Amino acid sequence: MVARVTLEIALRKEFDYLIPPELAACAAVGTRVKVPFGHRQVMGCITGLIENSAHSQLKPILKIIGTPSLVTAKVMALAKWLGEYYCCAPEQALKSVLPQVVRREQTGWRERLHVRIVSGTPEMPRLTRRQEEIFLVVQQRQQIALRELLQLTGATAATVRKLEDCGLVEIAPVVDERDPYAREQILPSQELPLNTDQARALAAVIAAMDTASGKAFLLHGVTGSGKTEVYLQAIAHALAQRQGAIVLVPEISLTPQTVERFKARFSHGPLQTLVAVLHSHLSDGERHDEWHKIRQGRARIVIGARSAIFAPVEPLGLIIVDEEHEHSYKQEESPRYHARDVAVMRGQMEKAVVVLGSATPSLESYYNAQRGKYGLLELPVRADDKKMPVVRVVDMRGENRKDKGIPIFSQRLKEAIQNRLERREQVILFLNRRGYATSLQCPKCGHVAGCPNCSLSLTYHRREERLRCHLCGHAEPAPRVCPNTACASPTIRFAGVGTEKVEETLRKLFPKAAVTRMDSDTLKRKEDYRRILGDFRRGKIDILIGTQMIAKGLHFPNVTLVGIVHADLALHLPDFRAGERTFQLLTQVAGRAGRGDVEGEVVVQSFTPFHPAIQFARRHDYAGFYEAEMEFRNQLKYPPVTRAALITLKGRNEELVAFTAEHVKKEMEAGLIGAGELILAGPAPAPLPRAETFYRYQLMLRARQMSRLSTRMAELAAKWKLPDDVTLTVDIDPVNLL
Ligand code: ADP
Ligand code: ZN
Ligand code: ZN
Repeated sequence: MVARVTLEIALRKEFDYLIPPELAACAAVGTRVKVPFGHRQVMGCITGLIENSAHSQLKPILKIIGTPSLVTAKVMALAKWLGEYYCCAPEQALKSVLPQVVRREQTGWRERLHVRIVSGTPEMPRLTRRQEEIFLVVQQRQQIALRELLQLTGATAATVRKLEDCGLVEIAPVVDERDPYAREQILPSQELPLNTDQARALAAVIAAMDTASGKAFLLHGVTGSGKTEVYLQAIAHALAQRQGAIVLVPEISLTPQTVERFKARFSHGPLQTLVAVLHSHLSDGERHDEWHKIRQGRARIVIGARSAIFAPVEPLGLIIVDEEHEHSYKQEESPRYHARDVAVMRGQMEKAVVVLGSATPSLESYYNAQRGKYGLLELPVRADDKKMPVVRVVDMRGENRKDKGIPIFSQRLKEAIQNRLERREQVILFLNRRGYATSLQCPKCGHVAGCPNCSLSLTYHRREERLRCHLCGHAEPAPRVCPNTACASPTIRFAGVGTEKVEETLRKLFPKAAVTRMDSDTLKRKEDYRRILGDFRRGKIDILIGTQMIAKGLHFPNVTLVGIVHADLALHLPDFRAGERTFQLLTQVAGRAGRGDVEGEVVVQSFTPFHPAIQFARRHDYAGFYEAEMEFRNQLKYPPVTRAALITLKGRNEELVAFTAEHVKKEMEAGLIGAGELILAGPAPAPLPRAETFYRYQLMLRARQMSRLSTRMAELAAKWKLPDDVTLTVDIDPVNLL
């Protein structure tokens, strides 16, 4: 037998190796192997088994790593599709399906010395009092970690060794699992009786599971409509059929609160099972252990961020993608996959049902539901009978005061905050921009402090008196005079408000209120996020200011007012999804208000109050927004009416980049003839023309269908000879157009 192997050293090729007879039993598609390559030994993965190779003098596989094979045949097939569709090398696709820590050659289990009773000792030797005490403890427990025994009894390791010498106990290494949630106390939760909408929805999902249809559903439910309860009961059904489930949650919403809701239901009762969690804050060891629990079939439910879509759950009955519209499901490095789309594909391949849930579905998913590609399930009202919050839009153009400019807070928002403070209710203020001021400008000569590496202005951070680039991290001390040496005027003006400024202004306006800011500048340690939310929940904070970090999934019954400081921020981005993004963000943030007994209010401050994204969000009218937005997408042939691919060329020599981009366009025009009707736009400088010292040019390709096109494009790209210092990336179904 011969194995076809993809090597980890990235050669975009597969190589054949002999399978020695002693390894034949464990060599399967998906098995990780160590093989000779030139003078080296490299790691790889078996991608196929064949009878005979076209090559002669094959070398043998040296070693097999991990049994059972680390990649299941099904995940292997998924990785193959991933590489083809997203135009990346097979070894890169394979890397993304296996966490780094699992790929290593050594097993990564943590072993600890345990002390165990040796049974059947013929006669009891004479022991000292001390030895006897220790022996009794071991006898009681039968087995105990050496370290714990020493702590418990105050004995030394030498004393325990003596017991071992007498043949009473044995000391041996035992695998000790790391559980990131070991210290949590979680109370079991019971199934809730569903309301009719929920029962409609659940029945459809269960029927699809029972026929192993591999069908996908879009569950469109307003915030608080009880989507999670539908997920939980669908998972219970999968478990009852002896199938497992994957639940994807955006990284930012993967809070202990979220994980607990799943653990509480499935760590107890008749369907008791292990819930494994995969996210970026786990230590390598924890991630290793969680992954293997899944691979061994002990954990049947996986909750995780983007990459958990590759978890080796087998058999897989159900995949849930919560907040399916979230952009963090798209990986912004190769392979540039979208976990939602991978989920739908995996569902089809493994006949698992896929449920995409959102209060503000992406236009792509709603479009697919309209065309019958996905089943559409709607939960139009809140499950807890709470009213949707009242949304008031304030026209900030009317707030302009003579010679004082436009204030951060409108009169209306100030009064609303005052009112909540008096009633001892809580407030969330949202502004998706950190720092103090977003630009520093000289009124005399017009100089704007810009990043030396990127085409972006620098943000002023007041507490640290520094200017920072939010893209590349460049930082410099804040100047006292105009940095233009020819001018050096002492009057510098700061423009554009960030969260730091909002915090400062708020403290001045409401000196007695407890104000806390939460953004990536104030979160220094791992626990900070939990600590601040804990304080907020316990009422120690009156007003919480934050960036998108606080926009998602949080549930605080005492929050009755949400203020959106500057609703237009995302509207002006050079991106055809700017309106969609704004609509989603406003709806999500507004959903944080009024989750308790008191009706919620949302105050939206805007300079373009009549923009459709703002008006439809104000009326909680998703369908209306969808229709208006689709008209625009149809006219301009933007996704979801078409599929897009973004080709970006980067390099330090701008002329060379521009020239190469032209060349690539000609090659594409020639190479894609006959591949169907397509629109090829560009090349043009990217909306962000320079980033981290690289000049960037873009081409955008749009077509009705993408899969055949992306395969053709990968073939073409492999043949292009680019100048050494120009790199090309292909992003299929791009989310970030900058
Ligand atoms: P969503 O995920 O759609 O935003 P949640 O699942 O968080 O909504 O549900 C909102 C609230 O409604 C939660 O407190 C949940 O316990 C409650 N809830 C959900 N379903 C029901 C039900 N059938 N009966 C009563 N309360 C429910
Ligand atoms: Zn100046
Ligand atoms: Zn920069």
